[in-house]
Amino acid sequence: MSKLNVVFIGAHPDDETVMFGGTLAALSAHGVYTTVVCATDGRGGEHGDVAEAATPEALARVREVELRCAIRALGVRELLLLGYQDPPVGPNNELYAFAEDEDALVAQIVQVLRQTDADVVLTHGSDGEYGHPAHLQAYRAVARAAQRHLPQLLFYTVAAYVPQFPDHLWNAHDLAHLALDITPWFEQKHAAMLCHRTQHQLFRRHRNLENVRQAVRSVESVRRQHPPVPSGETPNDRFAETLLSIGAWRPQPHEEA
Ligand SMILES: [Zn+2]
Repeated sequence: MSKLNVVFIGAHPDDETVMFGGTLAALSAHGVYTTVVCATDGRGGEHGDVAEAATPEALARVREVELRCAIRALGVRELLLLGYQDPPVGPNNELYAFAEDEDALVAQIVQVLRQTDADVVLTHGSDGEYGHPAHLQAYRAVARAAQRHLPQLLFYTVAAYVPQFPDHLWNAHDLAHLALDITPWFEQKHAAMLCHRTQHQLFRRHRNLENVRQAVRSVESVRRQHPPVPSGETPNDRFAETLLSIGAWRPQPHEEA
């Protein structure tokens, strides 16, 4: 059988690590061909205490270096940048989507998925995790690309809800089909988190933590969105089989509202 080809599409530099870094490291270590696609340059975020990233232009440059560092730490094979400028955070900490022309974004994603010959695409959950408009836009665009243009493709989302492990990151409407304890790849994920130096203050602040290590989540999860999986059933495609073979489990199927 040909090598499985897995593409993760994230809105910002660091999403690949925070939400899916352990699984990316695990898949890469098991011979899966992994690609990370990052939609924006992250210039709208904060620069932490990194002095050389104090302007939006400088921050975009620094975050690309950080992202490349994380990709190496995780053993991911390829990085592709869509090149969108990340809009700055607005008044009252308002966050924004990045693509004004969402049809163009969908077309771009279709092109990337064809070009990489993807078997599986993963992106943000249907709730944009904590509702981030850029994460929601990535979800919408990848869903459209997969469902309307690439019917053979398996479309999964990350940060799916695992009832046994409460976490504010989980997408409440995406019940997890598979969860993975990433402990064997924890050091790689931690190293990738350390690469994202401009985001360290943010990583700690979100959950009031003392250091970046404490911010590394040890459980990651996915839900298959397309083709749809009947309620109460679990997917048994090539990607699901691969995850199960590296230690993933199926969280108890239970009452789906
Ligand atoms: Zn993000």
